[in-house]
Amino acid sequence: MLLLRIKDLKTVRWILLLLLPFTTSFPILASDVNVDTLKATLTDLSLDDEARIEPLIELAYFYLYIAPKKTAKYATQALAFSSIHNNNASKAKALRLLGQAEMYQGLNQAAFAHLNQAINSAKASENSHLISVSNRVMGVFYELIIDHDNAMKYYIIALTFAKLSDKKEDLAMVFNNLGNVLNSQHDYNNAARYFEQSITINAELNDLNMKMNATVGLSVSLLRSGDVLKAQSLLEKVINNQSLINDFIFSEASVNLAHVYKLLKTFSSAKSLYRFVIDDEKGSAYPPAVAAAYLGLADVLIQTNHIKQAGDVYRKGIIAVKGKTSVKSEMALYENLAKLELNQGHFETAATVQSEYIERRNQIKPLIQDGMVEKLENQLQIERDHIKLQNELIVSQQESQHSSLYLFTAIVISLVSLALFLLLLLRKQLIARLKSTNKTLKKASETDPLTGIGNRRYLDNKLEAFKCQDIQMAFILLDIDHFKEINDNFGHDAGDEILIAISETIKDVCRKNDIFARMGGEEFVILSMSSTEESARFFAERVRACIEGMSRSFESTITTSIGIALGNMEKANYDDLYKQADIALYLAKSQGRNRVMLSPKVASASN
Ligand code: GH3
Ligand code: MG
Ligand code: MG
Repeated sequence: MLLLRIKDLKTVRWILLLLLPFTTSFPILASDVNVDTLKATLTDLSLDDEARIEPLIELAYFYLYIAPKKTAKYATQALAFSSIHNNNASKAKALRLLGQAEMYQGLNQAAFAHLNQAINSAKASENSHLISVSNRVMGVFYELIIDHDNAMKYYIIALTFAKLSDKKEDLAMVFNNLGNVLNSQHDYNNAARYFEQSITINAELNDLNMKMNATVGLSVSLLRSGDVLKAQSLLEKVINNQSLINDFIFSEASVNLAHVYKLLKTFSSAKSLYRFVIDDEKGSAYPPAVAAAYLGLADVLIQTNHIKQAGDVYRKGIIAVKGKTSVKSEMALYENLAKLELNQGHFETAATVQSEYIERRNQIKPLIQDGMVEKLENQLQIERDHIKLQNELIVSQQESQHSSLYLFTAIVISLVSLALFLLLLLRKQLIARLKSTNKTLKKASETDPLTGIGNRRYLDNKLEAFKCQDIQMAFILLDIDHFKEINDNFGHDAGDEILIAISETIKDVCRKNDIFARMGGEEFVILSMSSTEESARFFAERVRACIEGMSRSFESTITTSIGIALGNMEKANYDDLYKQADIALYLAKSQGRNRVMLSPKVASASN
């Protein structure tokens, strides 16, 4: 019996195909989806309210794997509202759910039409997420009718839009589907790679359900490539999360773990685990997992020589999954039952099953033809290469995104550096300008506006600068004689001219290191460095003579009286020097003007 079964390659293929769990397309059923609340919401809303669309879609989602007929009902209502309100996104969702519901009832023509319309509405909505999902479901449709060629094509489109979608889970879902389709094609290494990518993304998204879902897929790749123990440990890990994951994933993991036990020949464990999935009291197991459990259980019974019981299991399985699950599962049950009857020599029964099978297959699998699977398998390598290319494109796109990020960073850094450089340059210029402005201001504040020579502040600053230096100097104070008269005789402006000329004359007489300033009015001071009494008097006399000499060119008497005070810069007190010089000047005035007098202090000191 066993030999016969193994010889029958087609049966083996069906069993192998059935090992593949359809972990791809179902949405996560939130345990808190409250059907009553949704229905109450609908009752509260008026019949033409656009707000009905969302609860209708949620209800359609809820029933998809439990009662696809109900899903179809709610999706049809949602579709009607979406069409009235011309809402392409809702239309895409409703049509996709309707197509899925029909797909799980074996209504393939209708499913195909609605899924196509879902893709068109998704395209019209320009929503990458919806385009990705609708194409992905179409891929699932083709996978269920064992058209891997077309399944792959739609997954590739789904992959393209998943990359554009703002929902990262779209990419994880497509990777899952690709993993499943590659498992179907016995390309377990590549399948495992996709499941691993899906696991990584779902871990990033903190989506334990989908992470566990992909883990189940990965364990199937491992199981079928012979790494049974690793598959076992992964599946046990999934099962340990029972309280945290949804029932569909739990049932998928359970049925695959049962397959592990079957392969390890621990038949009693395998049997009880298959029965656990089949007898799921809540009815919340994933229908394809239930179908796989029937097939697995029957297989264990055959291997343990319980042939009749195996036949019963196939029959129960057909009834249990009819209209609920994939074409693939249902057909596998029929085919295996027919083979089993045939192998037992029950030709009549086998013929009956065969005719039922053909009838059912014609009804639900119009697209499947003999030899199709083989033909497709030959074409799949091309598609695999296509997928690889797509993946390489994703990687290179990511790399180029990285390099453009580097470029952007470099540009930003350069711009910031340039801005800083300009700022520093500007600051330097500003400081230089400020310095020169300060210099100009300082000069202006120290300059006498009429004559252009230093003013009293200039003299103060110079005295301050020389303070504390052991320098002998003469403080020479000049006052022009009878200047009031000059003003009176020639006018104030002419007086100004004469003041300018006087300052020029004195400047010419002064030596390099002498400091010359106008104290105000017609009063000037010359600070003469390293002066002795004699040299100071000599110098002052020269100044006096030069000013007197101006009388010729101005045709007016221009004379000056001069007072001299001597002192050491270190000890000298400016006020004191000024006072001494002023006294000397007073003496010069009082003794007839146009003369030089020494401060009495100096005079008495030298006597
Ligand atoms: P003396 O010093 O010989 O006693 O007689 P004085 O006429 O020069 O008298 P005093 O020094 O007291 O007066 C100075 C005069 O100089 C008074 C003012 O009219 C004139 N004066 C002061 N500043 C200026 C100035 O900037 N321009 C002109 N044109 N005249 C000035
Ligand atoms: Mg005066
Ligand atoms: Mg005067």
